[in-house]
Amino acid sequence: MVQFQQMSKFFGENEALKNINLTFHEGETTVILGPSGSGKSTLLRCINLLERPEKGVLTVGNQTVELNKPISQKNLLSIRQNTAMVFQSFNLFPHMKVLENVMEGPVTVLKQDKEIARQKAQQLLEKVGLSHKTDQYPSQLSGGQQQRVAIARALAMEPQFLLFDEPTSALDPELEGEVLKVLKDLAEEGKSMIIVTHNLNFAREVADRILFLENGEIGYDGVTENFFTANNNERIQQFIKSMQ
Ligand code: ATP
Ligand code: MG
Repeated sequence: MVQFQQMSKFFGENEALKNINLTFHEGETTVILGPSGSGKSTLLRCINLLERPEKGVLTVGNQTVELNKPISQKNLLSIRQNTAMVFQSFNLFPHMKVLENVMEGPVTVLKQDKEIARQKAQQLLEKVGLSHKTDQYPSQLSGGQQQRVAIARALAMEPQFLLFDEPTSALDPELEGEVLKVLKDLAEEGKSMIIVTHNLNFAREVADRILFLENGEIGYDGVTENFFTANNNERIQQFIKSMQ
């Protein structure tokens, strides 16, 4: 479980997230939608404490931290290990081969045996359709392939939750599909995912739950189908229209 209680995040005077109360459950795929600047990335980054909220309580798995107090290294590490983030710009290690990129976290952070990590990395690369690229360097891959390596790398850490911030927005449209297909497979497997995207078709197809942010507040939180069909909120209707 990931939970915020009365969480606020400020950038100077700007309250980017306002008193957020929210629980993400395991096995659920949540898609976060909302206009530019509404706080989607900030919310995601507050989950793994890449951004530090000034106020509230965060629970990740069995760690609960009060955000207005110092957080121990141990709690921080545990929260980061349980919430792997996949970024817009893949952030692979350029000097490491694809397989090494996927093995790196398990070996150095989780202290996994190298051979076991290698086998697991191979399986994960197969799962994202890249078993033929294990010995290449990231620069030899397309953007869509690099992003799939980044997903395999996140999975290798066996986090409770996978966080994605616009995972396809740096990709050409023809490469977007191959990454979305991997996310769809993971959702069908029951992985716990929180995905920020502007792709409404994908959201509608894959999300169990939609979270709509507006000016740092939750404008909608509920089942996917109702967001698209059964809501009377004019601003949400406008948002949907503006994205089509
Ligand atoms: P987009 O769809 O454009 O990615 P977003 O919904 O992800 O937008 P955020 O990046 O979370 O929006 O930004 C939310 C608010 O916080 C905005 O007002 C933004 O200007 C502000 N903000 C975000 N990051 C910072 C930062 N590092 N320093 C100062 N203000 C920031
Ligand atoms: Mg963003």
